[in-house]
Amino acid sequence: MSAQIAGKVVVVTGASSGLGKAVARRLAAEGAKLVLGARRLDRLETLADDLSIGRDAVRKTDVSDSAQVQALVDHAIALHGRVDVLINNAGLMPHSPLEKRRIEDWDRMIDVNLKGTLYGIAAVLPQMQKQKSGHIINVSSVAGHKVGPGGAVYSATKSAVRVVSEGLRQEVKPYNIRTTIISPGAVATELPNSVTDEDTARSMKEFYENYAIPPESFASCVVFAMSQPEEVDINEILFRPTAQQ
Ligand code: NDP
Repeated sequence: MSAQIAGKVVVVTGASSGLGKAVARRLAAEGAKLVLGARRLDRLETLADDLSIGRDAVRKTDVSDSAQVQALVDHAIALHGRVDVLINNAGLMPHSPLEKRRIEDWDRMIDVNLKGTLYGIAAVLPQMQKQKSGHIINVSSVAGHKVGPGGAVYSATKSAVRVVSEGLRQEVKPYNIRTTIISPGAVATELPNSVTDEDTARSMKEFYENYAIPPESFASCVVFAMSQPEEVDINEILFRPTAQQ
C-alpha cells in the first residue's frame, strides 16, 4: 500500500467497466477513498459491493451532462470534504471511415471524450484551487498521438484531451495541482463494442483479440503517477502492448 494513495479521495468516471473498473479495484486495494461514476448504476453497485466500499461511493453519471459531472464531484466533497484526484476516464471509440457520415457517433465522441473531460476539470478545479492541491488524470490514447483510417474523429478527441491537459498543466501550477495524461494502446475492455460500423467492428475485434493487454496495465500507470512525491508531476505516460505497432 502506497502512503501517497492511502486515504486519498479519488473520483473516477467510466468506472462501470474496463480501465475505470480495473483502476477502482487497484486503488481500493491501495486504500484510496473512491467515488465512482458511470451511466450503468447496476454495474457500479455490484462493483461497490465487491470492493466493500458502500453503495454511497457510486453515482449514476453521464459525463456529457456538465450538471451530472458536477453532482458527482459535489457528492465526493459532501462525503469526504475534499477531492484529491480526478480520473477523467469515461470514453468511447466508435471508429468508422468519415465517408460513412456517422455524425451521431462523431457527436458522442466529442460529447463524452472531450466535453466530458472538460466538465470533469470544471467540476474539480474550484475545490482543488481552494485545497491548494490535487491531481487530474486525463485518459487519452495512442490514438491521441497518431491517426489511422477510420479513427479521425476518435484521434481528434484524444489529441484534444492531450492539448487541454497540457494547457491545464501550465495554468494550475500556482495551485499545486498535478496533471497527468495517460495514453494507452490496445487494452482488453469493452471499448471495441462501441463501434457501430459493421466492417470496422470486425477488424477491430480481431485486432483486440490479437494484441490487447489486461486493464491492470493501466491501473499500474495510475498508481505510478499517484505515488510520486507531491513535488513530482508525471505529465504523460504512453504505453502499449509490446506487440502493437
Ligand atoms: P469500456 O467500454 O470498457 O469502458 C468505457 C467506460 O466509459 C464505461 O465505464 C462506460 O460506462 C463509460 N462511459 C461511456 N459513455 C459514458 C457517458 N456518457 N457518461 C459516463 N460514462 C460513460 O472502455 P475502456 O475502459 O477501454 O475505456 C476507458 C477509456 O480508455 C476511454 O476514454 C477510452 O477511450 C480509453 N482508451 C482505451 C483503450 C483500450 O484499448 N481499451 C486504449 C486507449 C484509450 P457506462 O456505459 O456505464 O456509462
